[in-house]
Amino acid sequence: MAIPSPVPQEPAAPPAPETSAAGGKPSAPALVRRARKINRELAALYPDAHCELDFATPLELLVATILSAQCTDKRVNMVTPILFAKYQSAADYAAADRAEVEQIIQSTGFFRAKTTSIIGLGQALCERFGGEVPSRLKDLVTLPGVGRKTANVVLGNAFGVPGITVDTHFGRLARRFGWTTLDDPDKVEQEVGSLFPKSEWTMLSHRLIWHGRRVCHSRRPACGACGIARLCPSFGEGPTDPAQAAKLVKTGPFS
Ligand code: SF4
Repeated sequence: MAIPSPVPQEPAAPPAPETSAAGGKPSAPALVRRARKINRELAALYPDAHCELDFATPLELLVATILSAQCTDKRVNMVTPILFAKYQSAADYAAADRAEVEQIIQSTGFFRAKTTSIIGLGQALCERFGGEVPSRLKDLVTLPGVGRKTANVVLGNAFGVPGITVDTHFGRLARRFGWTTLDDPDKVEQEVGSLFPKSEWTMLSHRLIWHGRRVCHSRRPACGACGIARLCPSFGEGPTDPAQAAKLVKTGPFS
């Protein structure tokens, strides 16, 4: 899929964020305005942003998301066609041979723990939810291997229920944008959620993750080639020279 180039026509300029009269921190309304503007600009930069895991059912997405811990979506997508062909229902996972599952998912890393989660997931779904993936956060987080991040991925992408997915990219960008100063993913989810209408939560998550993967990297973000540089209070955290920064932009594919 073609990724729109985030490289601006003009060299990026340092931003001048709105501030409160009291000091350098943006006032709450200014923070909300700027946050929503960043979201709109990311939407224009990445109109195709979406969940990069391949899946056809809520169960497949749940399993793929468990496999994606400490692993790239691209690697997970290489493994899941074999896994999903062999195990098609919660009962299939519940009765799975452990060694066979381990062998299929080995390349995703932490495969023993992930196998335990997946087989336990199948058993829990059969025992408590009639073999179906529940569509409520409070039920999803009771399943083996499922925390709030995984639950929100499933809610937002398989059930159309708005959810914020705080992975490593989302947390890093939210802090760089000044939306939060916290590291705890649950608190980041809460603080960022308060800045946006619920209807934006799922797509906001995709956009931040896409921008984090392509431009705003953990080390050496490509500030000089960033389409939202003028809105970002962390402009300058990476190279600001457009030519130098352009070399840091990754174009994927990530899935
Ligand atoms: S830190 Fe740099 S690359 Fe990241 S959003 Fe801000 S300006 Fe863009």
